[in-house]
Amino acid sequence: MDGSLPQAPSLDFTEEELHRYSRHILLGEVGAIGQARLREARVLVVGAGGLGSPLAMYLAAAGIGTIGLVDHDTLELSNLQRQVAHATDRVGRPKVESMAGTLRALNPLTTVEPYAVRLTEETARDLIPRYDIVCDGTDNFPTRFLLGDACHRLGRPLVSAAVLRFEGQLSTFKSHLGAPHPCHRCLHPEPPPEGLVPSCGEAGVLGAVTGVMGTLQATEVLKEVLGIGQSLSGRLLLWDALDTRFRTIRLRRDPACKLCGAGEA
Ligand SMILES: [Zn+2]
Repeated sequence: MDGSLPQAPSLDFTEEELHRYSRHILLGEVGAIGQARLREARVLVVGAGGLGSPLAMYLAAAGIGTIGLVDHDTLELSNLQRQVAHATDRVGRPKVESMAGTLRALNPLTTVEPYAVRLTEETARDLIPRYDIVCDGTDNFPTRFLLGDACHRLGRPLVSAAVLRFEGQLSTFKSHLGAPHPCHRCLHPEPPPEGLVPSCGEAGVLGAVTGVMGTLQATEVLKEVLGIGQSLSGRLLLWDALDTRFRTIRLRRDPACKLCGAGEA
C-alpha cells in the first residue's frame, strides 16, 4: 500500500498449519505460496447474516489471516432459519460477537475483528482501507450502494452477493482498476425506489439459497486473493434454485456511468 514492491509471503508454516491446510496445499493452484497469501490477506465481511455465515466460516476455515465483521444488529430467533454461524442460545446478543465466537472456534489461527457498527459513509471510510478485499452480504439497497461507491473510491475490490426468495446473484467489482472493469452503478445506476423491490423480511428466502450464494461468494474471494481462475469482474452470475439453473451475463463498463465513467461526480 505504501508504494514499495510487494514482498513474497513468508512460507514459514508450523506443523499445525501444514496439517490443517494440507488439502489446500495439495492443490497445484494453491500450494504453500497460495496458503501463505491467504494467511496474509485481510478480508472485510459486511453483514453477519445469511450470506455472511457461510462466507465468513469458509474464509476462516481456509486460513484467511484477518477477517473483519461489520453488523450492528442483535441476533433474533427468525435469523436462525438461514444464519447458520449463530446459535439459539445467542439470541439477543450482538451478531458480530456471536459470529466471531464461531469463527474463532473453527480456526483459532484466524484473527477476527468484530465491529458492531452501522455502515455509514464515515465508518466505511474508516474500515475499508484497513482491508484488502470487501464482501457485501447486506440486505438493503442504501447500504449496498454506499458500500459499492466506497469500495470504488477507496480502491478495494468488492465481491457482492444477493438473495431473494429462491434466487441469488453474485458479481465482483474492480472498477477502481479502470476499464474494462464495470462498477455496481454500471449495472444499476440508482437504487430502486423504496418499497419497489421487497426485502427477504417482506418476501422471504429459502435458507439454503443464502448458504449456496454465501459459499459461492467465499469461493470468489479466495480466487481473488490467490489470483487464480477467471475473475467474476464484468460478469453477473444468476441462480434460480427452483429451476436449478445458473446463468452468467456480461456486464459492460458504462462510459457515462456517474461513478466510474465520464459522468463521475
Ligand atoms: Zn460504473
